[in-house]
Amino acid sequence: MHDLKIESPFLKLGSSFYTKLLPESVTNKPELLHYNQRVADQIGLNIPESKLQQADMLMQLCGQKIQDGVEPYAMVYSGHQFGHWAGQLGDGRALMLGQCRSKDDALWDIQFKGSGRTPYSRFGDGRAVIRSSIREYLCSEAMYQLGIPTTQALCLIATQEDVIREQIEPGAILTRISNSHIRFGHFEHFYHNDDEENLRKLADFVIDQHYPHFKDCASKYLDWFKTLCDQTAQLIAQWQSVGFCHGVMNTDNMSAIGLTIDYGPFGFLEDYNPNHICNQTDHSGRYAYAQQPHIGMWNLYALANCLRPMVPWNDLIAAIEKDYAAKISNYFAILMRGKIGCEREDSKADNLWQSLLKIASASKMDFTLIFRLLSPEVDLLHEEYDGIISTEKARNALKDWQKNYHTHMQSINRANADVKIGMNQVNPKYILRNWLAEKAIRAAEDYNDYSVLESVFKVISNPFEEHEIHSELSNPATEEQRGIALSCSS
Ligand code: AMP
Ligand code: MG
Repeated sequence: MHDLKIESPFLKLGSSFYTKLLPESVTNKPELLHYNQRVADQIGLNIPESKLQQADMLMQLCGQKIQDGVEPYAMVYSGHQFGHWAGQLGDGRALMLGQCRSKDDALWDIQFKGSGRTPYSRFGDGRAVIRSSIREYLCSEAMYQLGIPTTQALCLIATQEDVIREQIEPGAILTRISNSHIRFGHFEHFYHNDDEENLRKLADFVIDQHYPHFKDCASKYLDWFKTLCDQTAQLIAQWQSVGFCHGVMNTDNMSAIGLTIDYGPFGFLEDYNPNHICNQTDHSGRYAYAQQPHIGMWNLYALANCLRPMVPWNDLIAAIEKDYAAKISNYFAILMRGKIGCEREDSKADNLWQSLLKIASASKMDFTLIFRLLSPEVDLLHEEYDGIISTEKARNALKDWQKNYHTHMQSINRANADVKIGMNQVNPKYILRNWLAEKAIRAAEDYNDYSVLESVFKVISNPFEEHEIHSELSNPATEEQRGIALSCSS
């Protein structure tokens, strides 16, 4: 792609891992909806602004033009969906161009999502629509800027083609980059096919690329798994601390290197409701906000099961216990202590954030804004905050809580403006509320107006800043905006 040199080490694993194919052709002229210069810089892609809109460049950016010698491929994987074995899945609407190497020697997968059917498409059309592509484009950037490990998006391109969903919708291709797109489901695929040789090859590939320090260790498979347990614990603790609900934590949507991957019917908490379900097809609430830490563990068990040919079961179980279960609540506690302005080690603060969450839950306070407003010096009961703390019940509960909080902060010498400045760097003002994504989508789809997408991109790119002119984009959803329904694939 343009000046990037593409390598394809994954192809060396053999044809059981993928199918080589080209993207399906798009008949109409693609249109660039958004380009993420930060991501381009990160992977070392240098396209001058004057060339960005050129037809040839757009064709390269969305995979319609592939440079000589590069062989795109779709990967096969399997997975458990909603707790049930789903058998073979795979890149059904995504195609990997290959990997490029950035200046810092990191390898980046480049993948086109929505580029047409592959042998793993099952009954799908291999296409993506602008609506869900805008959601992934914005959310992966929002997560990155919140400091949460994630796949990222380089650009968003309209294909100008109709895609049939419940209604006819405009199509798009999202060009996604990531250090890896390998999922727990890749391992499940080979394990469930009794293919131990390829299972080992896959594990070696992941270790060589992402955990090279374990490469020569006798216990390399266990070492990687332990690290992944730890990374997954940190990841999900971070999700919880910003109120992110993934929505479809199937094993095929869990990353083998601990990233957030596959943005579908995700949502951020509005008011603090631990039982919030963001995916309308998740009838039982399997993937509700408060279930995510538990589901992370369920998924790690599914992966551990596949590693049994290489690692004793007891060691795998011990890793889940020690490196995931025992750590995740501690990681979460550290983040929550930070959110109320306390030190990492301040375990006395736990009572404070826990009771604040109880109050927030009982009185439906906005999860993001209550932490953003909180200060060791300011009185939350001041009328200025009435919009967030609206009920008498909430005000009463908060009165006592705030007294304890201020006393604690004074006792540890943290009742000062510097602490508030630090709190503002961990408590975002802007998160990608569904209504923001929806506003950007409606303007784009209905009026070809991309200015809202741009404004939303701007605030989520700097979520800890004030952005006075876009301040309304930090507002909680109205009753009507809460009704936006989201389901699995689209
Ligand atoms: P997801 O719910 O997005 O994780 O998708 C689950 C599986 O369905 C994956 O193997 C996807 O590649 C596949 N899939 C989802 N949407 C489509 C589509 N429109 N066309 C083909 N395959 C799809
Ligand atoms: Mg998926």
